[in-house]
Amino acid sequence: MSCPLCLSADAQKSGPRGEVYNVICLVCGEYSITSEAAVDIPEGPRFAALRPALSAATRRASDAAQLIQIDRTNWRKYAESFAFLSPETKAKYFLDILRRRTRFFGEAVEFDTDSDWPLIAAQNPEECRELLNHIERTSRAAPTHDESWWKLTVEGWKETEPAAGAACGLGFVAMAFDADMEDPYEYGIRAAIETDCGLTAIRVDKQHFKEEITDRMIADIRRSEFLVADFTHQKNGVYFEAGFAMALGRLVIWCCRESDKDKLHFDTRQYPHIIWKDPADLREKLRNRLRALVPGARLGCADPTTPPPEGVSPLVSSTVACGLPGTPASPNRNPSPANPDRPDRDRGLG
Ligand SMILES: [Zn+2]
Repeated sequence: MSCPLCLSADAQKSGPRGEVYNVICLVCGEYSITSEAAVDIPEGPRFAALRPALSAATRRASDAAQLIQIDRTNWRKYAESFAFLSPETKAKYFLDILRRRTRFFGEAVEFDTDSDWPLIAAQNPEECRELLNHIERTSRAAPTHDESWWKLTVEGWKETEPAAGAACGLGFVAMAFDADMEDPYEYGIRAAIETDCGLTAIRVDKQHFKEEITDRMIADIRRSEFLVADFTHQKNGVYFEAGFAMALGRLVIWCCRESDKDKLHFDTRQYPHIIWKDPADLREKLRNRLRALVPGARLGCADPTTPPPEGVSPLVSSTVACGLPGTPASPNRNPSPANPDRPDRDRGLG
């Protein structure tokens, strides 16, 4: 079939069929679309101008392990998020992608301009190549073997440093402390962060401090690289903590139990939440999101008793934050040895 967004001929249909189905496209990533949108959108008046930006929205979301559903009313909102970006913003997207895909300084990673151009919100492969030339001229990254393998220079590495104060691999967990949330924390959130991804979870009530809990909480969020916010039970504190982390420019991962999703606050409902049914479901979805968004999240060994398959590289699903409203386009990363279990981190370069 041809992709309704980029019109590429070799897209595949998958997942649920009928009114809503999934499309897997090399250019646009995986997304879901209603069948009427697939017919109507390409015929609409603004589509030709916004088409590349819509591909950018779906591809960047897909690479961040988010499946967005395109329908007749929401597609413009998605497209407009990426429609009017400056060349410098696009260049920054490229540097962020390289940084996320790079395990150590000096490593070359693949970026194919013919299929990866939406990742940096370019209009087409030509613009993408010109942006890459600009980045090379400004000495922030350099191609290696051929045009599709790139390395960050020291300048590029500096430019992709995180906001000050964040420690690599540390994730703050904001959630309700109700008894029914113990299992989702232990077997869902903590298992995904620590067991599956080799990162570190911190939750204020799990620790004993002499300071006021709020001071401790503020300090912990400041030193965290990312924050997992679960909105089940609708606690005001979770909204506060997520907002504070967003203001600091930290990556926020939004979660909510399916039974509570209709209670999500109107102002934040549009953010891409992980909607989960049980702890195992939460663990799997959170693991995928973390691996897509947090540099250094361990890949390929979901079951700790099973070694990663032969030949699986941690680079296979390296990716970018989707940059949709509410998702910081630049999650923070900071080379500091927060977790000795993670030898692939870029420690020692900060
Ligand atoms: Zn496509």
